[in-house]
Amino acid sequence: MYSPSIKKLIEEFSKLPGVGPRAAARIVFYLIKKDAASSSRLAAAIIDLKKEVKTCRLCFNVYESEKEICAICADPKRNKDVLCVVASETDLASIEKLKTYRGLYFVLGGLRSGFKSSQDRFLRTAELSKTIGANKALREVILALNPTSEGQSTIIFLEGLLKPCGVKISRLALGIPFGGELEYADEDTLNSALEGRK
Ligand SMILES: [Zn+2]
Repeated sequence: MYSPSIKKLIEEFSKLPGVGPRAAARIVFYLIKKDAASSSRLAAAIIDLKKEVKTCRLCFNVYESEKEICAICADPKRNKDVLCVVASETDLASIEKLKTYRGLYFVLGGLRSGFKSSQDRFLRTAELSKTIGANKALREVILALNPTSEGQSTIIFLEGLLKPCGVKISRLALGIPFGGELEYADEDTLNSALEGRK
């Protein structure tokens, strides 16, 4: 029922996380009403994103600079003896915003879906083992994953994987309710979960 250009853009927006076909249609009709300049700015911002944003080869966080690695990995003042494993870049941002954690990070790229192993190939588990193996100063790995069944499944999996490395493996303390997500936890809750890790 929609014309080809409208249909095509609705299809593209529908592929975005958290955007269904109805929301996608609303965005498209919003853009039709706006002037050409605002559509150009949006298109240019998307193109710049792909051009400018790089993925750090050590922690897999995204960054924007001429440097080889991200600012956190390159910072000599960060503690090299502790590595915080997070599922996503947004979880890393939530912890970094607390300004209390001064160690390094590793972005896993997702969580295991339940107890199925079909999603495992999307997780950077081989890269994590490599990063841990290469860091001789490392003493502790914090598994800062969501207290959901996916998070728990991933924690159990990683504990098994990392056991031979001989470093201390800790999890966040309770505080974030089961089923909750790090990204939406308030700062005090997240901070005490991190401080009280065991
Ligand atoms: Zn990095």
